[in-house]
Formats: sequence, structure tokens, C-alpha cells
Amino acid sequence: MPILRPLALALVVCLQFPPPAVDVPTRDAPAWLAPYREPASRLIGEAVASDAAWQRLAYLGDTFGHRLSGSPNLKAAIKWAVEEMKRDGLENVHTEPVKVPHWVRGKESLEITGAIPQPLVMLGLGNSIGTPAAGIEAELVVVRNFEELDAARERVKGRIVMFNVPFTTYGETVRFRALGPSRVGVLGGVAMLIRAVGPAGLRTPHTGALQYTEGQPQIPAAAVSHEDAARLQRMVDRGTNVRLKLMMEARFLPDADSFNVVGEIRGRELPNEVVVIGGHFDSWDVGTGASDDGGGCVATWEALRLMKKLNIRPRRTVRVVLWTNEENGGRGGTAYRDRHLGDLANHVMMLESDSGVFRPTGFGFSGTEATRAKVKDIATLLAGIQADQIGPNGGGADIGPSVQQAGIPAMSLEAEGNYFLIHHTEADTVDKIDPLDIARASAAIAVMTYVVAEMPQRIR
Ligand SMILES: [Zn+2]
Repeated sequence: MPILRPLALALVVCLQFPPPAVDVPTRDAPAWLAPYREPASRLIGEAVASDAAWQRLAYLGDTFGHRLSGSPNLKAAIKWAVEEMKRDGLENVHTEPVKVPHWVRGKESLEITGAIPQPLVMLGLGNSIGTPAAGIEAELVVVRNFEELDAARERVKGRIVMFNVPFTTYGETVRFRALGPSRVGVLGGVAMLIRAVGPAGLRTPHTGALQYTEGQPQIPAAAVSHEDAARLQRMVDRGTNVRLKLMMEARFLPDADSFNVVGEIRGRELPNEVVVIGGHFDSWDVGTGASDDGGGCVATWEALRLMKKLNIRPRRTVRVVLWTNEENGGRGGTAYRDRHLGDLANHVMMLESDSGVFRPTGFGFSGTEATRAKVKDIATLLAGIQADQIGPNGGGADIGPSVQQAGIPAMSLEAEGNYFLIHHTEADTVDKIDPLDIARASAAIAVMTYVVAEMPQRIR
């Protein structure tokens, strides 16, 4: 049955990488989209026919490792990104200077003291102060929330307090990481620990920034893995008097020079009107920041590379920005706003990808209802790759300052995947990302960006 063989082969190939010129469904599609259907199809086809985005992301992590603000890694990665963008043929490729905080972790450890010390798996929280060189040794108090902390206030002075908070949502749980240290410090506690903010992993603690409350005592703070938090909880529940020794060399060095990286495809008719897309190029100093947020950087950058490769030059300028210092300062986003203050009225849309490049489902959107209706129409072009959902709450930490300043419509890539499992951990590496997922993410961003930049009327 010779006819069946090629068909079966084609099916196998389709499952991995659909061939170029992916079908863009026409049913129920608004008529105004007709001129964009063919370029959209080419963009999607080109994106999913190769693993270029994944390979670039892998190269980034393999070569430079993590990219914490102030690190030589980030500096070298920025230099590479500029060269690569030029090699892609992007235009107006340049850097914009940003002074960034320079926090370093140094050596750190946590152990249960005793005749046979028991080391625990921990990660100091970003922006934490360190301990004295000899470390801090104290008795452990375990609480599950701020109410229990207040109830235990008489027992906190001179002790190490651990928040053993079950992970619900990131937003709900992260406040203990951010605000816990000062809440404990003000009661006289000497250090704060938190059960790592994320779903249960395989003994992978999650770092992330803390926020000391101004004018209150600062104490060192660290995350412990779920397994270790559970162990400590069991020991305390058993009535064991647990003593811990925490050692952290964490400290701030003077602010460092860093840069936002910018590349463009200049608009053919309205070059001063800009659609901005991007992610943050810095990461925590664990893993290789593949998912947070190398993937968002590469997927948005890839959208421009695809347009360039296919000779698609939209009416307006499309700009990719790789912001610096999202994780422990947010200074890249504010520097962008300040530098482009006079120009923000001409930003017709801003899009950030910082929720991982797992299987894309569509976008979050914030803006007027009229703009939302247009965005929803455009998303129908992405039905073929199942990335056509438009949800509430578009935005991102780096586009936030500009968006708020000038009321710019804001979008974020939405994806389905276990983002928070590897978030801010040593496990945030490229092997967790499927090449086809990041290809689809690039395709979705490319199509949305292209149409917004091309449509005759401004979308805002
Ligand atoms: Zn991020």
C-alpha cells in the first residue's frame, strides 16, 4: 500500500513540527483580518518549522549561565545579544544604560545543630543581608502565617522563625517571602526562614527578593526546601527543641553598570509609532534563568527575527527590549520609562513575556474594551496553534512603569505549564522547555505584534 506510507510519515512529522504555511482557520474570522492571513500563516509556519528559538535559549544558558544583576555573566550575555541582534539584521540595535543593584550571595549554609549536625537544603533570599561570619545560632519557632507569628510574639525574640506556609498561588504565598523578614525582625527575631515559595519539588528551594520595611531592623532570610520545612515542622511538633545555625555571606556591592538591549524593525510608513515587546534578561543566580526569563527574551526577539527573515516590514516600528534587573530592583523598566518619557504617547502597545514559554494559550490584555475587541479578533489568527485565548490582566513588571505612565495597552504571553515548579531554582534550565512550545510562543507573539504594527488605524 504505497500510498499509505508517505501519509503515515507525514503524520509523524506533523506531530513534531508542522510544515511551513500552517493553516489559519477562516471560519468566524472577522473580515478586516483578511489581508493579514497570509503573512500570519508564513510567520507561524516559519516559527514552528525550526527549533531556532530553543537553540538560542540553550546557547544563552549553556554559555553564560545565570544572569544576576551586576554579574559578569549578565554583562557578557548583553554583549552577545547585541552582536546576535545585529547578525539577525535587526535595526537600530543599541544598549541603554541602567545602574543596577549588585547583590551577591556568597557562601551560605543552614544546619540543625547537635552532636551530629544535620545540613539542610536552603537558598538565601535575594537582597538579604548576611549573618556575622560565625553565623547565627538560635532556637527555631515555626508559624504558618502572620496571625500565628503575632500570637507567638513572646517567643520570637532571639529566635529563628520559619514560615511554613503551604503553596496556594504565587501572589498569596510570596508576601511571606517579601514581608516576613521585617515582620520577624520587628519582634526581635534574629533570622527568618520560609518554606520555599512554589509547588512541592524535589528538594529545590526557591530564592526571590525580600523587601525590608524602611526603618525596621533587618535580619537575614532564606528559603528552605519543602522536605526540610516538613522535617523541621515534624521535629517541633514532636516537642524537640530544634536549634539551627544559619550562615550567609550575602551583601550588596556598589551599584553596577548594566543595560537594556534594544533592537528594531523600523516601520515602513509610521516609524515613530512603536509596538514594544520583550522580557527581562537578568535572572536569579541559580539555574540558568531559562524559563525566568531567558525564554521570554528569546521568544520576543524571535518574533522580530522571523519578520526580518520573511521580509515582513510592518507599517509601524516593532521594537524588542531585553530589560535588565527585573528580579532584584526593577530598574530596567523604570529606566526605559524615564528615557522614553517624551515618546510613550507613540507606544501603541507593550507586550511582555515573563510567565514562561511553556505551551502558549494566548495573551492577557489590559486596556480599553475597544482595543480588547481588536486584540480578540487578531487572536483568531492563532487558533491553528491553539494560542487564541485573550484573558484579563495583561502586563509585566518591566513594561509596568511605562504602561502606567502613559495608559498604554498592555499584553502578556500566557502559557500552560508548571512555571512555578522551577521558578527561581537551580532547576530553571532549558531542558524543561519544549522546542515546539517556544516556537509556538514566538509565532503567537510575532503574529499579534505584526498585525498591531501593520493595521491602518492605531489600536489605541
Ligand atoms: Zn521573571
